[in-house]
Amino acid sequence: MARLVMKFGGTSVANIERIRIVARHVKREVEAGHQVAVVVSAMSGKTNELVGWCREAAMLHDAREYDSIVASGEQVTSGLLAIVLQDMGISARSWLGWQLPISTDDAHGAARILDVNGDEIVARFARGEVAVIAGFQGIHLPTGRLTTLGRGGSDTSAVAVAAGIKADRCDIYTDVDGVYTTDPRIVPKARRLEKVAFEEMLEMASLGAKVLQVRSVELAMVHKVRTFVRSSFTDPDAPELKTAGDPPGTLICDEEEIVESEVVTGIAFARDEAQVSIRHVPDQPGIAANVFVPLADANINVDMIVQNISAEGFTDITFTVPTADFERAKAALADVRGEIGFQSIEGATDVVKVSIIGIGMRSHAGVAARAFKALSERGINIRAISTSEIKISVLIDAAYTELAVRTLHSVYGLDA
Ligand code: ADP
Ligand code: ASP
Ligand code: MG
Repeated sequence: MARLVMKFGGTSVANIERIRIVARHVKREVEAGHQVAVVVSAMSGKTNELVGWCREAAMLHDAREYDSIVASGEQVTSGLLAIVLQDMGISARSWLGWQLPISTDDAHGAARILDVNGDEIVARFARGEVAVIAGFQGIHLPTGRLTTLGRGGSDTSAVAVAAGIKADRCDIYTDVDGVYTTDPRIVPKARRLEKVAFEEMLEMASLGAKVLQVRSVELAMVHKVRTFVRSSFTDPDAPELKTAGDPPGTLICDEEEIVESEVVTGIAFARDEAQVSIRHVPDQPGIAANVFVPLADANINVDMIVQNISAEGFTDITFTVPTADFERAKAALADVRGEIGFQSIEGATDVVKVSIIGIGMRSHAGVAARAFKALSERGINIRAISTSEIKISVLIDAAYTELAVRTLHSVYGLDA
C-alpha cells in the first residue's frame, strides 16, 4: 500500500466525460489498495474566462476579489469529481483550500503556500475515503480571505499536498505523457524524457515550458517529493498501469539519479517578454544604476541585459521585461530621462526568448557557439543573449519561434 497524490489538469477535467475517465484512474489506484488524495484544476478555459470577466468588470480591480472569482473554477471540478467517484461506489469528499486549510501568504493572485494541514484527509484514509482537493487556491489565515497561487498553480497545490501528507508519490496527470525535450505541440520530433533533474526542470519551467509550474518543482526539490508527469489520456484500465514500480511518464529527480545525461536536455521558449532599448546614453559610472533602479522601484523584473561598447562617450542599453510590464517600464524610464540624459526609448513586443537547457553544459565548451552558428545559417538575428551555468537564452523575432526551436532541437541531437 502506498499513499498517492494524483493531480489532473484542465484538459483532463474538461467535461463530465473526461471527469469520468479521471475517476477511473482514481478507482484503479484505490483498488490497488492505495490511499489517494486527488488535486484538480478548473475545466480547461474556465480560468481564462473568469480572468476575462474580472478585467471586463474593471481593468484595475481588487486582487482579493479576483482571487475569490478565479478560485471558483476548481470548486466546481472538485465537487463534480467527488460526485462521479461516489457514483462509482468509491467513498470520496471534496475539499476547498480554506477547509483543510492550505494556508498561504497574502500575495493575492500569486500567493505562496505556507502550510498544508492534511490531518483530516489522512484520518479519513483509514476509512478508505478519497480526498478531492481544489487546486490553485488557499487561504490567508490572518484575514480569512481566499488566495490563488498564480497561473498553473494546481501543480504546486499537488506537490504541497504530497509533502503535507507525506505521500510516496505525486503523479501529475496531463495531456502529454511526460516532459519532452521541447513542447511537442511545436516540435513533433520532440522526445519524451525518462528523467529530468530538478535544476533542469526549474530552468525549463521558468523559461517557458508550462508543463509544470516553477514553484511546484521548487517544492518537489526541497521536500523530496517523488513527482511523475504522466498522461490522463491513456486507458485507465490498461494492464501496464496496474503493475507495481514506477508509472509510465517522466520522473523529476536528483541529478545523481540520471545515469547518462546529454549535454543539452531541452529547448524552451517564452513569448511573454518584451524588449526595451535606450539609445545614446552617456557612458559614465553609475549609468546602469540610474537605468535599473527606477525599474526595480516600480517592481519590474528585468531579465536579459546587453550594453554596447561605447562610442564617443555614449552607449545603448537593451534589456527585457515581462510583456505585461512593458508600458510601465517605458513610462518609468521616461520619467528619469532628464536625469539620465539618453536620446530615445525603443521597444518591441513581437520577440521571443528561446533557451537551451542542460546540466551537461557545465562540463562542455562550445554549446553556445553551435546555437549561434545554427541560427545565423537560418538567417535568424539575435537581439540579446543571456547565459547561466546550465542555460543559454537568445532573444529573437517572434516570427522565427518555430524555426529557431526546431533548428536548435535538431542541432543538439534531440530529434526522435
Ligand atoms: P494541465 O492543464 O494539465 O496543467 P498544461 O497545459 O498546463 O496542462 O501543460 C501541459 C502542456 O505543456 C502540454 O500540452 C504541452 O503543450 C506544454 N509543454 C510545453 N513544454 C513542454 C515540454 N517540454 N514537455 C511537455 N509538455 C510541454
Ligand atoms: N486553473 C488554474 C489555471 O488555469 C490553475 C491550473 O490549472 O493549474 O491557471
Ligand atoms: Mg498546468
